Amino acid sequence: MKNNQPKMLYADAKGNIFDHPDLFMAGMSANEAVLPEDIELIPLPEGSKLFTMPAMAPIAWDNRKKMFITLDAVREGRRSQRIQAVAAFMAPGYVRTLLPACDYAGKTTHLPLWSYTAVGWDEERDCFVVAATRVDANSNWDPCNYDDRTLDPLVTKRLQEMPGNRLLEQLSRCALDYHCFAAKNLFYRRWEAPLPTSPVCNSACLGCISLQPSECCPSNHERISFVPTPEEICEIAQPHLEQAEQAIVSYGQGCEGDPILQGDTIAEATRRLKRATSRGTVNFNSNGSLPDRIQLLCDSGMDSFRFSMNSVREELYNRYYRPKGYSFGDVLRSVQIAKDAGRFTMINYLVSPGVSDAPEEVEALLRFVADTGLDMIQMRNLSIDPDYYNREMGARGKGIGMYQLLQRLKKEFPRLQFGYYNRTRENFFPPGLETGWPISGS
Ligand code: SF4
Ligand code: SF4
Repeated sequence: MKNNQPKMLYADAKGNIFDHPDLFMAGMSANEAVLPEDIELIPLPEGSKLFTMPAMAPIAWDNRKKMFITLDAVREGRRSQRIQAVAAFMAPGYVRTLLPACDYAGKTTHLPLWSYTAVGWDEERDCFVVAATRVDANSNWDPCNYDDRTLDPLVTKRLQEMPGNRLLEQLSRCALDYHCFAAKNLFYRRWEAPLPTSPVCNSACLGCISLQPSECCPSNHERISFVPTPEEICEIAQPHLEQAEQAIVSYGQGCEGDPILQGDTIAEATRRLKRATSRGTVNFNSNGSLPDRIQLLCDSGMDSFRFSMNSVREELYNRYYRPKGYSFGDVLRSVQIAKDAGRFTMINYLVSPGVSDAPEEVEALLRFVADTGLDMIQMRNLSIDPDYYNREMGARGKGIGMYQLLQRLKKEFPRLQFGYYNRTRENFFPPGLETGWPISGS
């Protein structure tokens, strides 16, 4: 181990964060403590947050003992005070390569739905560092682009222009109350705007942000409670497609059920949009559970599809998605239908170190990409209590390394793209995509 390895962070009971003078930062792959490699240590991206891990003692590398140790307390003068581990929640666009190293046995509560990342203090660079790599260079989603002072008048104006449009009313709440960046884009008439449509879903994901059983953690947002009509959808989507810079409208953006259950409404709206304008990109994010609906949506003129999955192994998929009335085979068929129809086809891969880079998952993913000819993997840090997820997935022992996983995929499939955000049609296949990762400067 090198001496300039980052130092372990810990927090006192009040949440004040300190770097330890002697102990070194560790991370975790599934439930195993590991030392981060140089290549996966990057400065904490701007816009990230630090969290304490309540009642969980940090695990660090002790270079004198040459072993990982759990540190419950530190001495302060004559007193010993209990400490807790620290984790980072990163700004979007970055995929974490290690979980925070802590003693999850001490956990007394179910952690809320954030993605927890290993973080340390780099004395040489004088900054926090995280175990992560950047997978998308799009900076549109930077918080500095979302100043609410300019938003309020736009929301008022659009609501006056389209009275009685329930979808617009919903999106105004999304923008102003939930501070949803995608909803804000609609009012700014730029970039990617959301079209929520579905109050229901046929999955029951362990980490669904829009519906959680009450005994578990509270969900982040409430689901939309109605299905908008094709007229309501087109009234707001058409001007966006016609006028917005880098215009994308996306079904299935977050706090709703799954839009695939409103396939007929969405197909009708998309047909009308495509008749009205050739400008912009219409995208569909979904669990992909109903292949015949995907065919219908391809026929309606949908430009791109993004299918969510936590694993390409049926057993792990089922444990997380808990599908109702469909099977993992249906999801695979949907991916193939979209790809065969010539649509830009992505998966929203909900990743967690130790599960996603487990050797069996890596082999299954390589086969999946080879079989489907997938265009892009959006690497999304799964937001869930890591200990709970590892236990539910039966994850034990470390993976090959998330960075290694990306390297292997890129080596075997040079045209496969990594990313974090949806793309406009013009950017589906950018020049130099074979060398699009790692992103320089990160
Ligand atoms: S598919 Fe999406 S909406 Fe449905 S349960 Fe899973 S996360 Fe929630
Ligand atoms: S992601 Fe959620 S908050 Fe954002 S627009 Fe969709 S429903 Fe609203």
